Amino acid sequence: MREKKLQFETELIHTGYESSRHHDSLAVPLYQTSTFTFPTAEEGEARFAGEHQGNIYSRLGNPTVRVLEERMAEIEHGAGALAFGSGMAAVSAVLIHLTKAGDHILASRGVYGCTFGLLEMMEEKYGITHDLAAMRTEEEIERSIRPETVCIYVETPINPTMEIVNLQAAAAVAKRHGLKMVVDNTFCSPYLQNPLLAGADFVLHSATKYLNGHGDVVAGVLVGKDAEEMEALRMTVQKDVGGIISPFDAWLILRGLKTLHIRMDRHTDNAEAVLRFLKGQPEVKTIYYPLDSGHPQAETARQQMRRGGGLISFEIEGGRKEAQAFMNALKLIKIAVSLGDAETLIQHPASMTHAVVPAESREAMGISDSLLRLSVGLENAEDIEADLRQAFAKVNPDSKRLQEA
Ligand SMILES: *Cc1c(COP(=O)(O)O)cnc(C)c1O
Repeated sequence: MREKKLQFETELIHTGYESSRHHDSLAVPLYQTSTFTFPTAEEGEARFAGEHQGNIYSRLGNPTVRVLEERMAEIEHGAGALAFGSGMAAVSAVLIHLTKAGDHILASRGVYGCTFGLLEMMEEKYGITHDLAAMRTEEEIERSIRPETVCIYVETPINPTMEIVNLQAAAAVAKRHGLKMVVDNTFCSPYLQNPLLAGADFVLHSATKYLNGHGDVVAGVLVGKDAEEMEALRMTVQKDVGGIISPFDAWLILRGLKTLHIRMDRHTDNAEAVLRFLKGQPEVKTIYYPLDSGHPQAETARQQMRRGGGLISFEIEGGRKEAQAFMNALKLIKIAVSLGDAETLIQHPASMTHAVVPAESREAMGISDSLLRLSVGLENAEDIEADLRQAFAKVNPDSKRLQEA
């Protein structure tokens, strides 16, 4: 019997750890070991047979990693979780688990670049086909379901244009057709959005981003709502494909998680301040932010997201040359892909994260050459704004805004 569910913030700090079982250590100990010793040969036999609980070998489970897994399962409202050596290892594990040759995956019309690469590889090598579809309504999703479809794979908000997938609509269609639904929740973190509560079967994260939050780990987590299925996944795809996390990286993510709620609120406060600032800039043509009143799906976003999060995309006047000049003019804000770190980061999707997408498809996805994506960090918002302001002034010295100033 589970005890009464704790509040989210408390779970981030306590769930899955019992200090009395670890020499009373307050902090979760780092079990930096590849293997575990058996007191007797018979005990080793019993553990391998699954008759006794207990550690065997770190690819099959590690006590530090298990604390992270239990904590993640709880905060994402799942029944089991597995930690991986990267977000992509989590993506590939769940897709290998759910599909076989001849099956079809229906994905949202924007997915992380390497996820798209994986879908293409699975099609080429194993005949597992896929389609990408807009998923704003049940009708839009329903239209692309095929007899061979086994899974709906969703990212929301979609990077970098912040289009929203309606999670409840996707879950309704998945249920109607007996499909599994997977959601990549990296952009929101479990603080802002809980896809399992909306009806998804699996939720995954690149823990590299907000979960760890300090830019020093690459890792992933997969949470499922069926505990037995997750244990089966541990002993099949995770064990045999082997994309496990290192105990040290799990330890760092456990440290990061303790402040997730505080960080997500500050990321969002800062993003809202930057949003207001960008709206007053004559050089900014369009802004994409999930909970902005100007977002065409702000209502859906509000239903499934607690707040808008730390990511903002915007188009500036001009093209690639102007966008790159603007990035080069920034001083505090760093030019880098990735997101969710304490440092504010800017990247140019057309030449970086989405460079592999052909130019026409990029345009169709709304990714123009002047689009920039900002991962708003935890610095003082006024310092972030001041850096943006001086960069706008540098690339556009004649602007109306400056003449007024
Ligand atoms: C970064 C990212 C991934 C991949 O995660 P890695 O940890 O880099 O392997 C997957 N999905 C989204 C939305 C991401 O931002």
